[in-house]
Amino acid sequence: MIKVTNLRKKFKDLVVLDGIDIEVKRGEVVAIIGPSGSGKSTLLRCLNLLETPDEGVIQIGEAALDAKSYSRKEAHLLRQQTAMVFQNYNLFKNKTALQNITESLIVTKKMKLAEAGKIGMELLEQVGLTAKADNYPITLSGGQQQRIGIARALAVNPHAILLDEPTSALDPELVAEVLQVIKSIAERQTTMIIVTHEMAFAREVADQVIFMADGNIVEQGTPEQLFDHTQNPRTKRFLQQIG
Ligand code: ATP
Ligand code: MG
Repeated sequence: MIKVTNLRKKFKDLVVLDGIDIEVKRGEVVAIIGPSGSGKSTLLRCLNLLETPDEGVIQIGEAALDAKSYSRKEAHLLRQQTAMVFQNYNLFKNKTALQNITESLIVTKKMKLAEAGKIGMELLEQVGLTAKADNYPITLSGGQQQRIGIARALAVNPHAILLDEPTSALDPELVAEVLQVIKSIAERQTTMIIVTHEMAFAREVADQVIFMADGNIVEQGTPEQLFDHTQNPRTKRFLQQIG
């Protein structure tokens, strides 16, 4: 479960998150859409404290934190609840595909090499890349690198996975393979928040779609509600522009 209440964030005088409320049930997939600069990335980054929120309460899994005052212990616990998948993969270049996945298990979870390796190979299997276990990122396509990024996020078995435009750096012909992997993970009841420009994908995979503009949630609902029975003129305009 994820529950975000009145989340606020400014950069100097610029209000980027203007009181965001979100609830995501266990196993649910939420897609966040919206124009550039609307605060989508900042929202995801606040959820794991990559950005420091100014105000609001964030509850994820067994962690809860009030942005106004929290302890290092609370921050640590909150960070442990999520794993992030970035647009540009952010893989360790000097580590193999398998090492990228097992790194956090060995370093953070203090797992034995053999045990971590076994989990790593299972995850490679899930993303269809067992043959590439010993490849370095530079020898992998963008789509393959992103699939490793997703396997790495899954490795720590987080309460939820946060994906920030996971396919927008990819050549068009590589998008489908990554979306397919995300879909297969969604089908395993993984809680996910995904910022995406892939409307067809959002429609197919998301339980809830949230449209953001100017740091606010303008409209939210099921894909059918949001795409087929759009209420807000702003959402309509956005969907027309990108569609
Ligand atoms: P995009 O679709 O282009 O990725 P976004 O919805 O993810 O956009 P954010 O990256 O969250 O938007 O940015 C929201 C606003 O906050 C933008 O106006 C951006 O310029 C500003 N912003 C983001 N990060 C910072 C920062 N570290 N310092 C100052 N301003 C920032
Ligand atoms: Mg962004």
